[in-house]
Amino acid sequence: MPPVLPPRVLLLGGTTEAARMARALAEDGVDAVYSYAGRTENPVAQPLPVRIGGFGGVEGLAAYLKAEGITHLIDATHPFAAQMSRNAVEACAASGIPLIALEREPWQAAECDRWTHVPDLSGAVAALGEAPRRVFLAIGRQTLDAFAVAPQHHYLLRLVDPPTEPLPLSRAEAVIARGPFTVEGDRKLLTDHRIEVIVAKNAGGAGAEAKLVAARELALPVILIDRPWVPERPVARSVQAVMAWLSG
Ligand code: NAP
Repeated sequence: MPPVLPPRVLLLGGTTEAARMARALAEDGVDAVYSYAGRTENPVAQPLPVRIGGFGGVEGLAAYLKAEGITHLIDATHPFAAQMSRNAVEACAASGIPLIALEREPWQAAECDRWTHVPDLSGAVAALGEAPRRVFLAIGRQTLDAFAVAPQHHYLLRLVDPPTEPLPLSRAEAVIARGPFTVEGDRKLLTDHRIEVIVAKNAGGAGAEAKLVAARELALPVILIDRPWVPERPVARSVQAVMAWLSG
């Protein structure tokens, strides 16, 4: 019988969950590489070797898996990073490499919440309506231009890095901050900026939930964008479950 080789893991990251996963892998001495897309200027340091940047689609990822001798892939990307997740499913299927997603449960409305669920960004724009409103647009930087068709609103943005180019929205101001956020801090942000409605992605997880709890306390409406489609794949809800999968 050939000896069973220890696992070598590719961890697709960019989230609080991925940072937790990286800690657990490092503590257990698992041979692993943490992958960032390279979207932020100063990515959070990780206790694992880090690589940064796209792989070059499904083929590029499959080639990387082979070249690096990867035996297991953990997809701990954000639930809205659907392209990366789709590529991972395809590349792993083509390479015969087992994959698991570390995925947060979507947020669920409490009885008193004033949430409107929309399928995508254009649904969120439509749900804002015609009358000008003061909007906390908590969707990150990359997809802001979807809201350029609704210039009547005033937009408050929260970005990880200061913008290096003019924002695609004319009536917008940005606060620069990196999560996780607190309910107290988000309540103050919403009050100070006289926010009337929040637009957010249904990311799930604890790090970005504070704005929803603050909205609940302030009885503010929230427009929540549903998660994009990703192919069916094994999903774990905790770091421990992924560790068990890895050693199983
Ligand atoms: P995406 O649309 O699914 O991915 C676009 C391309 O970016 C992928 O095809 C891949 O390029 C590259 N990429 C994405 N994640 C990568 C990773 N972890 N390592 C290496 N390459 C990666 O992703 P996105 O929505 O732009 O998100 C980018 C990153 O930001 C993700 O890592 C995600 O976890 C994090 N993030 C996203 C959001 C969000 O709202 N979307 C929020 C917080 C954090 P190639 O095809 O060239 O391989």
